[in-house]
Amino acid sequence: MDNISKEERSRVMAAVKQKDTKPEMKVRSFLHKHGLRYRLHDNKLPGKPDLVFPRFRTVLFIHGCFWHGHPDEQCKLARIPKSNVKFWKDKIRANRQRDDRNIKLLQDLGWNVVVIWECQLCNNAALDGLVFQIRSAPTLRDKDQKRSSAEEQP
Ligand SMILES: [Zn+2]
Repeated sequence: MDNISKEERSRVMAAVKQKDTKPEMKVRSFLHKHGLRYRLHDNKLPGKPDLVFPRFRTVLFIHGCFWHGHPDEQCKLARIPKSNVKFWKDKIRANRQRDDRNIKLLQDLGWNVVVIWECQLCNNAALDGLVFQIRSAPTLRDKDQKRSSAEEQP
């Protein structure tokens, strides 16, 4: 199955990796500026969500469109390379199945799961929507937790 050249693989991976870290920083600073406090990469939770908002019982995944296979025909970032199509399709399908499983597990544990895609981050409207979505999530101890948000700072 693995007839993809080393060069091609590392070229794609390098291109994607750079893009992968930037969106997360953008989301983090935007949400922080809007007063949301979170934990990072909680590896005790399925799928190790990028951000966890304990107060809102919400986890957030910031998905790179390529690796996570953004199912949106308008998305330019999710296009499969023109060579080794099968290799990439299989790989990305497996990633999507894993994501779906993790989301289901998290929901079963009572978490609200929010996914934002890399290509949605270029406009602040999507980020505003994200703030709203997190803030309006049903919380477990709504009233108790209306105190200072500083408590959740790691
Ligand atoms: Zn996308």
